[in-house]
Amino acid sequence: MTAQRSAFSETVESCEDCGESTPHDVRIEIQTESKKSENTEFSREPYRVAECLECGETTSKRMNNA
Ligand SMILES: [Zn+2]
Repeated sequence: MTAQRSAFSETVESCEDCGESTPHDVRIEIQTESKKSENTEFSREPYRVAECLECGETTSKRMNNA
């Protein structure tokens, strides 16, 4: 009865802006990189976008850096 969970999938991550671990709204976005006109087949990359729910800072990280 003490657990109060929202329906949103929140992830607690460290935010540089807040300087502490805060809940983040994480989503996946396909962003088109139009800077390089060489390999167009690699121009659309999935990015993991985490938005800090405390300060609104968004951090996008390319997922193909494994
Ligand atoms: Zn923050």
